[in-house]
Amino acid sequence: MAKVNRRTFLAGSLASGLAINTQAQAGLFSKSYRSRTKALVLGSGFGGSVAALRLTEAGIDTVMIERGKFWKYSGEDTYPKVSNIFGELSDSALWREPSKWLGGSVGMIQYIVNNGINIGVGACLGGGSLVYGGVLLQPRREIFETALSGLNYTQMDREYYPRVLARISGGPIPDDILGSPNYAGMRDYIRVAEAAGHEIVRSEVGFDWNIIREEIQGKRAPAASIGEYVFGCNSGAKNSLDRNYIKDAARTGKLKIHVLHNVQHIVKKRTGGYEIFCDLLSKQGSIIGEHVIECEYLFMGAGSVNTTRLLLKSQANGDLPGITSDLGDKWATNGDLIYARYGLGEVNGEYQAGPACIASFDTNNPIKPTGFMHSPGPVGKSTQLQMGMLVPEVTSKATYNRFLDKMSLNWDKSLDTRSTEALDSTTQDMIDAGGGKFSSIPAFGTWHPLGGAAMGSTCDYSGRVYGIDNLFIVDGAAIPGAVGAANPSLTIAANAERMMEQIIPTLS
Ligand SMILES: Cc1cc2nc3c(=O)[nH]c(=O)nc-3n(C[C@H](O)[C@H](O)[C@H](O)COP(=O)(O)OP(=O)(O)OC[C@H]3O[C@@H](n4cnc5c(N)ncnc54)[C@H](O)[C@@H]3O)c2cc1C
Repeated sequence: MAKVNRRTFLAGSLASGLAINTQAQAGLFSKSYRSRTKALVLGSGFGGSVAALRLTEAGIDTVMIERGKFWKYSGEDTYPKVSNIFGELSDSALWREPSKWLGGSVGMIQYIVNNGINIGVGACLGGGSLVYGGVLLQPRREIFETALSGLNYTQMDREYYPRVLARISGGPIPDDILGSPNYAGMRDYIRVAEAAGHEIVRSEVGFDWNIIREEIQGKRAPAASIGEYVFGCNSGAKNSLDRNYIKDAARTGKLKIHVLHNVQHIVKKRTGGYEIFCDLLSKQGSIIGEHVIECEYLFMGAGSVNTTRLLLKSQANGDLPGITSDLGDKWATNGDLIYARYGLGEVNGEYQAGPACIASFDTNNPIKPTGFMHSPGPVGKSTQLQMGMLVPEVTSKATYNRFLDKMSLNWDKSLDTRSTEALDSTTQDMIDAGGGKFSSIPAFGTWHPLGGAAMGSTCDYSGRVYGIDNLFIVDGAAIPGAVGAANPSLTIAANAERMMEQIIPTLS
């Protein structure tokens, strides 16, 4: 690798309070350089952001690496719109892996087509918190304990869930907003699920309801209230991680953030510590250079699929000597299956407003308990989407082919007909109670990949990877396949809080 002087360009303190390395963003000349830090957090989603805050608060010099862009909120045209995803905005919405010859695009969401499963994941500063539905749903105790028997629910409930919610939640949907015209579909979902005997929960959400109220009152351009809540939220209502955890970590003065840094490879140095090889990307998705960062402590926060892939790749190349052969294990989809109920009559208003914030639990399901999330979408007046979740019967072991440079998740949904029957049963209850028909949409895949570097197989319950020093898993990869019939981001963040509390005192 060419040896070039290290030149970092800090944009200074932006209005957002984040000092971001904009070297690659500025599209300056092609370059290659090295730098060094004590701790490196790879990825800026739920796990990575929590780790960065707790490390920097402990006074540890920390670098956060993110492959995607920083989408700084600057008014109603900041983010892509769902209504335009296949139009001229498709490049800004979708991540296509940059390559030397073909280029790529550095949009907010990556869709991964792996054999057996399609997966959506976030690809920007703040990770999944920019593209998620906003649901911060706490699992029920009894289902959580089936999924995550190695964790103490009482402790999560008393300490770690509230700790995360205090920083990012805007609370459950208030009555006046639920009563407004564009939320008619949500009210109907509640009516039908209640009539079916399911338990309704108004979930905490990572949105500011006061801003959504202003949308409804015509004081702001509408976004969430007309169903535009997935890619950021152009009214500014989404409490994405760049506005709380990452911003608070940056305020300590101990955090350096490098965006448009796509990590390609991780090497454990013989003398201790790690080397992280990053492609520098332009805003257009071309590779314009390389940055190699040395660190003493490495925290993996690239999300279940990418954390697992990066580690498997380095393991296959012999660059993580000693790392456990259980790496790749306990991967699953959180039991996700999307359903459409259709032919319901005109139950929705003109728009299906968001964010997703109404969950229903079917704890009397004859097969096993399920959780469903009403998922507002642009599907007309008489159809509703709902995401089913549960603890799946099976997990898979991801493997990596060195010659093709490809990871396979080896997911075989056909092994788990019992889970599909449980989800069908809950949906049939709703059809019996509210009319219409239903269809599941397995091709949709999952938005909730979990595991691959899981607690109890790849790492211990504080995230420390077995067989190798100073390597930690703090993201969804640590969760063995399911959180317990609920959306996972709250549990990922709360678990990272729990892990960091154990890890920090052990760092020198
Ligand atoms: C459309 C959609 C809607 C969703 N809605 C909800 C919801 O309402 N509620 C909920 O709980 N969950 C939801 N999820 C799931 C949720 O977003 C994830 O569970 C969560 O973000 C995972 O957190 P994480 O910390 O594991 O990783 P992520 O949040 O995925 O963060 C990983 C980060 O690492 C970066 N990264 C990856 N590879 C590299 C690399 N090689 N180099 C540098 N950086 C890298 C990524 O760009 C990303 O920013 C949704 C997901 C999608 C896609």
